[in-house]
Amino acid sequence: MMISPMPCVVCGKSLEPVFRYEVERSTGLGDYRQPAQANTLFGHGTYGSEVFDPLDGSAIRVNICDDCLGRAMENGTAEIAQP
Ligand SMILES: [Zn+2]
Repeated sequence: MMISPMPCVVCGKSLEPVFRYEVERSTGLGDYRQPAQANTLFGHGTYGSEVFDPLDGSAIRVNICDDCLGRAMENGTAEIAQP
C-alpha cells in the first residue's frame, strides 16, 4: 500500500515522495513518507504547549516544503539550532 507524504504544515501543498520506486523502498532507506523538496521535522513537545508535550518519548512529525522553510529562514521565523 502506497502512503503519500503529508502535505506542507504551513501552506498545505501536496508533496510527492522522494522515493518513488519499490526497489528504493525495499532497501529500507526509502521511507515512502519522506517528501521531495521538503523537510520532515520531528518535535518531542515543549513545556508550555497546551497541544503537544507528552513526556513519553513520542514525537510529532510535520512536513514543511522548501518554499515555506526558505521564506521562514529569510524572515527570521525559523532558525538553525546548533548542537
Ligand atoms: Zn509550504
